[in-house]
Amino acid sequence: MSRFFSNLYSSLIPYVPGEQPLDRKYLKLNTNESPFPPAPDVIAAVVQESLRLNLYSDPTARVLRWRMAKTYEVMPSQIVLSNGSDEVLNFAFMAFASERRPLVFPDVTYGFYSVIAELTGFPKRVYNTSTYNSRGFGVTSRSINRPNVLPYMEIPVKNDLSIDPNDYLFGGRPKTIVIANPNAPTGLALSRDAIEFIVVNNPQSVVIVDEAYIDFGGESVVPLTRKYSNLLVIGTFSKSRSMAGARLGFAIGSSRLIQDLNTIRNSVNPYNVNRMTLAAGVAALNAEEYYKKNCEEIIRVRGWAREKLLNLGFEVIPSQANFLFVQHPEIAGRELYIRLREEGVLVRHFDKPRIENYNRITIGKEEQMAQLLNTIFKILKRKGVLK
Ligand SMILES: *Cc1c(COP(=O)(O)O)cnc(C)c1O
Repeated sequence: MSRFFSNLYSSLIPYVPGEQPLDRKYLKLNTNESPFPPAPDVIAAVVQESLRLNLYSDPTARVLRWRMAKTYEVMPSQIVLSNGSDEVLNFAFMAFASERRPLVFPDVTYGFYSVIAELTGFPKRVYNTSTYNSRGFGVTSRSINRPNVLPYMEIPVKNDLSIDPNDYLFGGRPKTIVIANPNAPTGLALSRDAIEFIVVNNPQSVVIVDEAYIDFGGESVVPLTRKYSNLLVIGTFSKSRSMAGARLGFAIGSSRLIQDLNTIRNSVNPYNVNRMTLAAGVAALNAEEYYKKNCEEIIRVRGWAREKLLNLGFEVIPSQANFLFVQHPEIAGRELYIRLREEGVLVRHFDKPRIENYNRITIGKEEQMAQLLNTIFKILKRKGVLK
């Protein structure tokens, strides 16, 4: 840390993305990327658009928003785009969470939520103090006070790591509720009715549903955004649409909520989505069949890999996402992660209470999963767990 780093941020512990080591060639099953390339038309659109790199991108992203409106059956004014969905999550936390409406999310969920919560740093109070300079002009200072308290509430998931909607009944007490559906890193999903139950029973709260993995088997609540003014759905092109490197995320909600997000977006970075990514987004929506087929293949391989892992003695949480969350009674989560890494296979291990014995394994192509399974077999055999 330099001696200049603001004390507002000096205690921040940033999010640690899945590792991308360069020391050798790894089988990468640790960041939930798609094993499939983008559709050919997406690549062509990016190349074409790069010819106009000298021009700013459209800060209102009209073309892509209108195209999205068709796919998601909402109005263009209900959509805002972002540089990956992590960015729009940040906008949403800035826009809606406050002392009056504190953040609430499950204790086992996407690690980025608590990081943004700390960054946003509420509760915070802004004080205005006015003085006069030597020439008699008014000088206004705005000072920000950030009490050093955890600005969010984590609701424990059940013993089976599932979310109980009954734990999210806050009635008249306003909150900013964040739920990943399907949840990460468990892969467990809530039904549309369960989410609606939370939305209906918290009319004073904004309910943010992160649907990063919705295309792998979950039920989207996007249609409910036309009915409820307190529901915000977050989505991404990173996972099911093979565009993690393009950074394209979005939020869909009532036009009012979207207006608030645009106020933040236009204050932070109005050109937040670049030209090539906007063009890639339109082309990706036009290639729906290609991505649908890929998702079906991921779901098929997920079922197959799950069976194989169960046969190897793993406990496998039923997943509606493009990953499996697994533990084995005879090898610690951390040890399996290290052994796999030594053998050139990367999976994701979280050193966190309640889930330290698990590993999250991204679903790749069938041959990649076969390589993973062979490596696990070898490790378990060496350890004497398997004969
Ligand atoms: C991957 C992921 C995201 C964000 O992805 P972006 O690449 O920033 O769009 C958001 N939420 C969850 C739960 C994720 O797993």
